[in-house]
Amino acid sequence: MKDWNEECAVFGVWGDPEAARMCFLGLYAQQHRGQEAAGVALLSEKPDSRSGKLDHKVIKGEGLVADVLGRLRVETEEASAGIGHVRYSTSGKKSSYNIQPIAAKLYNGPVSIAHNGHLTNAHIVKDQLKEKGAIYQGTSDTETILHLIAQSRTDDLVESLKLAMPQVEGAYSLLVLGHNKMAAMRDPWGFRPLSLGVRETQDGKKAWVLASETCAFDLIGAQFVRDIEPGEIWWVDENGTHSAKLDLKRPTKQCVFEHVYFSRPDSIVFGQSVYLARQAMGIELAKEKPVEADVVIPVPDSGVPAALGYSKESGIPFDFGVIRNHYVGRTFIQPSDQLRQFSVKMKLNPQAAVLKGKRVIIIDDSLVRGTTSRQIIRLVKQAGAKEVHFRVASPPTTGPCYYGVDTPKKEDLIACQMSEDEICKAIEADSLAYLSLESLKTSVLKNQTHSKEYSYCQACFDGKYPTEIFEH
Ligand code: AMP
Repeated sequence: MKDWNEECAVFGVWGDPEAARMCFLGLYAQQHRGQEAAGVALLSEKPDSRSGKLDHKVIKGEGLVADVLGRLRVETEEASAGIGHVRYSTSGKKSSYNIQPIAAKLYNGPVSIAHNGHLTNAHIVKDQLKEKGAIYQGTSDTETILHLIAQSRTDDLVESLKLAMPQVEGAYSLLVLGHNKMAAMRDPWGFRPLSLGVRETQDGKKAWVLASETCAFDLIGAQFVRDIEPGEIWWVDENGTHSAKLDLKRPTKQCVFEHVYFSRPDSIVFGQSVYLARQAMGIELAKEKPVEADVVIPVPDSGVPAALGYSKESGIPFDFGVIRNHYVGRTFIQPSDQLRQFSVKMKLNPQAAVLKGKRVIIIDDSLVRGTTSRQIIRLVKQAGAKEVHFRVASPPTTGPCYYGVDTPKKEDLIACQMSEDEICKAIEADSLAYLSLESLKTSVLKNQTHSKEYSYCQACFDGKYPTEIFEH
């Protein structure tokens, strides 16, 4: 079993009297990255009576941001700094101990952590720590980071991170709140995103904000400053902002799946508009895999930008052939295939008015297990479509992810089990085609502002894992 810490979002704020409200809104904007649980750790206004250090107030629970944090009236809390987290649901056991931020009272004062990513060697480090007497409460790899910080025995949070983090491998975009500072950190490969922004507070001062995705800044009226760099530790305290680099050189390997599926289209991720990247994927797909048809329809919402790109390039009109019920969660979270099939129907309703008698191209961002596509194709045919051509705006998914995206095991990946022709039959399409890896690369580089180099991890498509993978 994988440790629990997949596909999450983090948010942090420092120097804002409305910190609690900002955390609420920052998480609300990033709800798509995690719908199972939400939480915040706020820096309290009053010092602890014994240590004299400012303590943390942690508020968290299972459910959506508005339900959990709204019900607990987080936005009314008084705090000038805080960090928050939303977590995604995958298969496996649930434990309230895994809900983040994870907080503890350590040698150097209270510490709370919010983590997006997945550590590949956490179970090895965990066993070593347990042998030395460490007590674990949950199954999250984030707890291992907390233990490593605790073991560093320095009074300084940043020094303890510099000692702790080289002991773990894998993906982490971290926010860490101490009693007198807040730190942000990205692993040396830069797998997961983490951006820095600034916001003017009610009293005209400058507050620093951090988020997995820039769409959180838009909601709270913050300006994007820059991305935290791979291997960078950035922190803010009473003396201002600081930055240092971990002494670990790695090639940058940002997750290309953030562009394909995971991030919100209105975010700028790794220096590239996600929306434009997806649209470019659709344009490239139309160039590479054309087919005669009457209408291009997206699988909403994830296929919309690529379908627009496909339609633009091919000249075939775009339309909404299936309508999405927005009050149903992501179908991927359903544990069994049967349940997943039913939830596709709950979520998507085909429109005969658009589909009847037509040759239809359906565009989706990815084809993973094949369950969703088969179900959608059936619905579209039942609504009267004459032909259904399925086009996927990414290459065949052939590798599980060990860096924080919940991609299933090889046996559940349809492209590992069948040829393209067999998949086409299995999903009951008249034709099937994927975007090539080369064109994915072209699409992601098209509107890049940071660098013209392709510095992405695409292990889910090519099986080339940048780090050692420790199976367990
Ligand atoms: P399926 O082929 O039935 O496994 O489903 C593929 C659909 O799930 C695509 O429409 C994607 O939008 C979505 N999807 C792909 N990867 C993930 C993921 N890691 N988590 C949640 N949804 C995903």
